[in-house]
Amino acid sequence: MTAIGTVLGSAVGDALGAPFEFGPEGAFTRRFPAPGHDGEMCGGGGWDPGEATDDTQMAVLVGESLVRHGRLELPDVFDRFRRWAAADPKDIGLQTEAVLTSGDPWDLASALHFQASQRGAGNGSLMRASTSAVFFAPHGRDATMSAARRIAALTHGDRAAWEGTAILHELIRVALLGQDPLTALPETLDAVHPGHRARYATVLADGWHPDLATEFNGAVWPCLGSAVWALRTTGSFEDAVRAAVDLGGDTDTVAAVTGALAGAVYGDAALPARWTGPLHVPLPGSGGRVLRAADLADLAVRLAGPRPAGEPGPAGERQDREERR
Ligand SMILES: [Mg+2]
Repeated sequence: MTAIGTVLGSAVGDALGAPFEFGPEGAFTRRFPAPGHDGEMCGGGGWDPGEATDDTQMAVLVGESLVRHGRLELPDVFDRFRRWAAADPKDIGLQTEAVLTSGDPWDLASALHFQASQRGAGNGSLMRASTSAVFFAPHGRDATMSAARRIAALTHGDRAAWEGTAILHELIRVALLGQDPLTALPETLDAVHPGHRARYATVLADGWHPDLATEFNGAVWPCLGSAVWALRTTGSFEDAVRAAVDLGGDTDTVAAVTGALAGAVYGDAALPARWTGPLHVPLPGSGGRVLRAADLADLAVRLAGPRPAGEPGPAGERQDREERR
């Protein structure tokens, strides 16, 4: 099932990449030259083998809020983020932490932080997109991209982060329909805010390579560009995620984004058991809960819901009305 592939794929990418964070290019392949090694979920750098990081933790927080309310309740998502941030997670993005610990209200915190810092285009809203992308996919492109922007804006004040997250949501939606997200790129770019279109067109273009990035891949543009590059230049879930981790830098997040996209394309059957087996997601601030692969699969199924595409239930209609306001 591709919804499970999206949520679980992002989580395994995150856990696979975490030990290699801030490391050099090619570190994963130097350690595991031949694909299929049982120890690939190796842990390190403070992470246990198979332990997912803040990327997946935040995706779960968004997903559980969506399931609980049946629609996007931004103040609730922000509250869940804040409780989590206060529980001292092992890792948390700089912008995300500044915004969530500011004490400012949910609808102002990221804007105030951006105003003061002028920094808000990290990949921290992109990394947690798997669950909301699955939930909003049946509502169509506009609702999907709009919800992505609003969830991104909870922690990221720069519209560049909103637009990148909206692009990722839409590419996942297309993949969940069984279509090729790469052929949907031109239409998706048309739906991007005009002031941000050119920069995304550059990093999403056919000939773009992560070596051409003008920022560290902790920024939203090269992170998304690298995930799309990994999908485009490989032929399986496994190879796409390996390629992402091998880029070095912000490996957990680039692989989490790649895993969401590749999981939506190839489905959960393509995820190696040696990756999903050790996977676990501790959830700080939730009374010691730890989610396993089966829990993430269950969450994905509940997010995908019984709603057939194009026929949102009552909660979805309410959401659509909110979008139009
Ligand atoms: Mg992380």
